[in-house]
Amino acid sequence: MPAPFTLAPLPWDEDALAPTISANTIQFHYHKHHQTYVDTLNKLVEGTKFAAMKLEEIVQATAGSSDAKEKTLFNNAGQVWNHDFYWRSLTPAKTEASAQLDSAIAAAFGGKEQLIAQLAEAGKTQFGSGWAWLVSKGGKLSIEKTPNAETPMAKGVNCLLTVDVWEHAYYLDYQNARPKYLESVLGKILNWEFASENLAKEANPVRSAA
Ligand code: MN
Repeated sequence: MPAPFTLAPLPWDEDALAPTISANTIQFHYHKHHQTYVDTLNKLVEGTKFAAMKLEEIVQATAGSSDAKEKTLFNNAGQVWNHDFYWRSLTPAKTEASAQLDSAIAAAFGGKEQLIAQLAEAGKTQFGSGWAWLVSKGGKLSIEKTPNAETPMAKGVNCLLTVDVWEHAYYLDYQNARPKYLESVLGKILNWEFASENLAKEANPVRSAA
């Protein structure tokens, strides 16, 4: 949907991820940080050609731009999309990967434990603010990390899951201990059903030989 953009509702109650992520963190992260990206995005697109575009289109159209205004627009649009995707990547429910995702994980990583270890490593080694991602390219899974507001979606890559590694995502609960936040989130509250749905949506996935 084009502008005005709205803050998408959280898929669970604000205290549902506690103690992995406290209600206090969610309140600041969602109502302050995420809301501010939405509000700023709406101000930036007003009266421009971007007002008629969908969020994904704005992110893709402004990615890599050298124009200062478009860079600011990318940062805010990217952060709105990334946060919507992050909330849906997390769940308090026990979820299972589909058979399709299971076999893609086995083919790419050997198993879920190895996938989680690589995702944790990407999150730990992302210097400064950014994101760690599980992505699929033609059904082949891999891990990526991006700085600031950047997202693999900007290049048309199919994202399956993400974890926010900006300090605001964990500082109230874990202070400087980003690895502890990652260990806790990746082990307990990743939404494998969401990842499965994202993989299934991808056109013509390559079937694993495994
Ligand atoms: Mn964030």
